Amino acid sequence: AAKEAGKGKYVVFDPVFLQAFNERVHLEKNLRQALTRGEFTIHYQPQLGVRDGHICGFEALIRWNSPELGYVSPLSFIKIAEDSRLIVPIGEWVLEESCAFAKRLEDDGFGMYKIAVNISVVQLLEEDFVSKVLRILQQTGLAPECLELEITESMIMETVDSLVPKLNELKAFGIQIALDDFGTGYSSLGSLKQMPITTLKVDRTFIEHLPEQDDSRSLAKAIVLIGRKMGLQVVAEGVETEQQMQHVRRAKCDIIQGYYISKPLPEAGIRELLRSYRPQMI
Ligand code: C2E
Ligand code: MG
Ligand code: MG
Ligand code: MG
Repeated sequence: AAKEAGKGKYVVFDPVFLQAFNERVHLEKNLRQALTRGEFTIHYQPQLGVRDGHICGFEALIRWNSPELGYVSPLSFIKIAEDSRLIVPIGEWVLEESCAFAKRLEDDGFGMYKIAVNISVVQLLEEDFVSKVLRILQQTGLAPECLELEITESMIMETVDSLVPKLNELKAFGIQIALDDFGTGYSSLGSLKQMPITTLKVDRTFIEHLPEQDDSRSLAKAIVLIGRKMGLQVVAEGVETEQQMQHVRRAKCDIIQGYYISKPLPEAGIRELLRSYRPQMI
């Protein structure tokens, strides 16, 4: 139909659009019930401290197993959850579960770990976001220093001015703030400097082509250096090989995360890993 209508014409009944639209509506309908039906779980991906070779924390990553749709990747439902504002209750649930998880590890003698939770700007823009976070910390008993909120670079820059005071407030309580997927957005170095963040997560795309490509090597190195010069903790995400790990280590990254260390695991898997883990000098 689109072809017959000719170039530049607006076709509302395009069957491809219609199918995509229907799928989206269907997904949203299922998403709406997923939380109350207990279809979400969280997997935790270990982060390794380069200096001492210890596991220092985890990133919480949501998983959705829908009885009707099967496994749905967060890459395909987070955006829809944001547009429909369902991300507000879903994100709150992730935060609660993740803080409780870190506190359980502590209580069971595994030690204190940082828990990094992905936060949508939609959540951050909520009037009562700060008080919600503080309430969750109080209810779970987790120290604010153990919580890190990850905010994606591309999302924050559009709203940066209104969010700076909020981020400062969270930071003042001891909560850590990470800029996620750094290098894929459009933040200037100037806006980066004004952001109240503690941590920079170098996006996987800069790690991916290490070490074959010369330019990606110097690019990754430069990004790490920028973070370090600004006094930030630098995390390399998506480290998959020994070689990539050696490169980011030499670039003086503080923390490494990726399949090379471990895939994201359910809580039982994390406990198993921590029980058998021996720090390795890397
Ligand atoms: P992200 O925050 O950048 O998380 C890292 C993603 O990379 C995760 O994908 C993780 O499983 C994957 N990953 C980790 N190590 C490796 C590796 O070595 N190689 C490769 N190829 N991939 C690796 P996942 O779990 O599919 O999540 C995708 C994105 O969905 C996340 O990207 C994050 O932006 C979003 N997301 C996940 N959980 C939540 C959540 O609870 N709330 C919100 N707002 N967003 C979430
Ligand atoms: Mg993240
Ligand atoms: Mg990331
Ligand atoms: Mg990423």
